[in-house]
Amino acid sequence: MKVLLVEDEAAVATMLKKGLSESGYAVTVAPDGRSGLDMGTSSSYDVMILDIMLPGINGLELCKMLRRDGIDTPILMLTALGTTENIVAGLDSGADDYLVKPFKFAELEARLRTLSRRKAGAAKANDLLHIGDITVNTAAKNVIRNGKEIALTSTEYRLLEFMVRNRGRVLSRIELLENVWGIDFNMGTNVVDVYVNYLRKKLGNENDRKLIHTVIGMGYIIKE
Ligand code: CA
Repeated sequence: MKVLLVEDEAAVATMLKKGLSESGYAVTVAPDGRSGLDMGTSSSYDVMILDIMLPGINGLELCKMLRRDGIDTPILMLTALGTTENIVAGLDSGADDYLVKPFKFAELEARLRTLSRRKAGAAKANDLLHIGDITVNTAAKNVIRNGKEIALTSTEYRLLEFMVRNRGRVLSRIELLENVWGIDFNMGTNVVDVYVNYLRKKLGNENDRKLIHTVIGMGYIIKE
C-alpha cells in the first residue's frame, strides 16, 4: 500500500510515517501543497492523506487540483478544526473522508483500510459510461467506439467525461470551463467552443448520430 502524506509539521509527519511504515505502508511525505501536487500527479498511490493547513496551496485547494487532474485516489483529510464548515469544505473539495486532529493512530489506520477497500470495490461498477455507441472507461481514461479506441488529448477526454456524466443536461460554457479547465483558468470561454469542435471531429458526426448539440445562447448538451 503506497501512501502519500502531505503534512508540513515535521514532527507529525515523522510520527505518522513511522507508525504507518511499521504497519506495512510505504509512505512518501510531501512537506507542502506544491510538492504534494507534484508527487500526487506524477506517481500513483493507493491512498493520500492531506493536512488542510499547509503553506502555499492548502489541503482543500490541493484536493480540488488533484481531482481536476483526474486523480481519483481515495483522499483522507486531516483537519485540526472539527467544525462542520471545515468538514463540509473538505468533502466538497473531493475528499473521501476526514479525521479531526488530534486522533488516535488506530483510527487513522482503520480509516485507511476502509478507504482502500472502498476503492477496490467501487472501481469496477462505476468505471464505464456509455453514450450512443461510445464507451468511456473512467479507470483507463480511454474512449472506445466499436472496439476501437478514439485517441483524445487529456483535455478532450476530461471534457467528454464531464459531458457524459452530465448527459441530457445543458452545460454552460462557464460550467464546462470551471469543471474541465478549473476555476483558476483564465482564458475566456472561447476555449470551450474550440475543444467541443475538436471532440466533435474526433467522435465523428456520422450521418445523424450527432451526440454533442449546441444550445444557442446557453451552451452544450450531450445526448443520444
Ligand atoms: Ca499543517
